[in-house]
Amino acid sequence: MTDSHLDQKIKQLIDQAEGVVILAGAGMSVDSGLPDFRGTSGLWTQAKEDFITLASGKGFDQDPVKVWNFYRDRIVTYVNTEPHTGYHELRELLQRLNKPMFVVTTNVDGAFAKAGYRADLIYEMHGSLAWAQCAVNCRRQLVCMPEMSVEPYHTVTDLPTCDACGQLLRPNVMMFGDPHLSWQHIDRGQDAYRRWSAPLLNVVGIEIGAGVGIPSLRIFGEEKTVALIRINPHDVEVNRGSDAIMQLTALEGIQQLTHMWD
Ligand SMILES: [Zn+2]
Repeated sequence: MTDSHLDQKIKQLIDQAEGVVILAGAGMSVDSGLPDFRGTSGLWTQAKEDFITLASGKGFDQDPVKVWNFYRDRIVTYVNTEPHTGYHELRELLQRLNKPMFVVTTNVDGAFAKAGYRADLIYEMHGSLAWAQCAVNCRRQLVCMPEMSVEPYHTVTDLPTCDACGQLLRPNVMMFGDPHLSWQHIDRGQDAYRRWSAPLLNVVGIEIGAGVGIPSLRIFGEEKTVALIRINPHDVEVNRGSDAIMQLTALEGIQQLTHMWD
């Protein structure tokens, strides 16, 4: 497909859409300077075994200080990182085109809300570092993420604890092998998506930086949309003739997209 044909197809998809769902994976955060999971410099590739330990329920039980320090670093980094300009450009484009929009993301960095997207129209599939929960999920309730210490934690007694039962708190993010995850925030997001999409016949997805390693976002996008625009520097193959491919990074793809309506 030539560039102008592709542009035409993408424009038509969005112009005809009753609603647009943005499906954002780790690749969306990369252009803000944050590492993704599976790319060559990603968290996953850098320390594969260590990462599986750090992001697992078992790893937390074995060494909560180490796991908390891993998340403490990420929380402090996210607090100090501004979402890149693509977040704003995409929101402004869809507002200008008068398209109802919803965000579904596997990212736990809270960047969409920070960039001005409506928090009640965001489904964070893997949880959020804005929330903490009891490590044994005693009351199935979430608490706001406590302020992180400036220094790394040294001992278990430094770590935040549950007001109800005294067990440790942990971030409300999905870990590998995670029987104690509280689903409250994740379920709320899923319900919000259902309500948002129910009256819409023609939802188009803009999928950005969604990996194939943990394909939950890609599967969701293909199930819930009539067509999607896949923006990714790699693994861009699509399964449906209605879909369109932009083999670009998140920021490049969003900027090329916004230029189509100039
Ligand atoms: Zn508790």
